[in-house]
Amino acid sequence: MIDTHCHLNLTDHFPDPSAAVDRALHADVDRIIVVGIDDETSQLAVDLADRFDAVFACVGWHPTSAAKYENTQRIEALCKHPKVVAIGEIGLDYHWDYSTPEQQLVATNAHWALACELQMPVVFHCREAYDDLIDWLESRDAYPPTCVLHCFAGDVSHARRALAIEETEVFFGIDGPITFKNATALRDIAAELPLDRLLLETDSPYLTPHPHRGKPNEPAMIPLICDGLAAALSISAAEAAAATTANAFRAFPRLR
Ligand SMILES: [Zn+2]
Repeated sequence: MIDTHCHLNLTDHFPDPSAAVDRALHADVDRIIVVGIDDETSQLAVDLADRFDAVFACVGWHPTSAAKYENTQRIEALCKHPKVVAIGEIGLDYHWDYSTPEQQLVATNAHWALACELQMPVVFHCREAYDDLIDWLESRDAYPPTCVLHCFAGDVSHARRALAIEETEVFFGIDGPITFKNATALRDIAAELPLDRLLLETDSPYLTPHPHRGKPNEPAMIPLICDGLAAALSISAAEAAAATTANAFRAFPRLR
């Protein structure tokens, strides 16, 4: 299995990422994509990719970091690294007010232009902003080959609109909330999404799956999310693992 989205680069939460990588490998999670939220954490993601065979990096400015964003020069330089598999996480977050929607769009537009130029996958963060993000996505002039709606929390109509964009292949991240007892609506939405577009992610250290809620999340918890997805789709865990792993290689062609 592959954890396609986590933050082992947040040093306050993972003072010893090697222990988390080891536990992941023992849990059959043999590839881990570490995602940046600004220049510094993007560099740390690449450093971890250099240090661990199992680790790959995604580089970019998170919308909640966008007030400090200046340009994509350092992100562009990091994209030359062979283990950088995507640009992100970028997007819109209307829940927190660390940055304005205008600042978020400045950062997101610049990263998108870079991704189109380099033809690299894009990983989106979206919180309480799906209408605007899908409107924005539909109205681009150019597209990268693949996009990921990380920790998808939109509704079925948002998913259908994203899937209808012919110029890019859109994938949906499935995280710990799929395992929550009260997440019936989320499981119903997951069951409406095409199986060949689903990815497993932890978003560690956040979004810890049941029955470990209250503890920090880590990539080794991917099998619990895989089980939760399998239950939502009424398929076996082995089928869910095989499908999501194959999808990850399509979503991120540099992953190997
Ligand atoms: Zn994230």
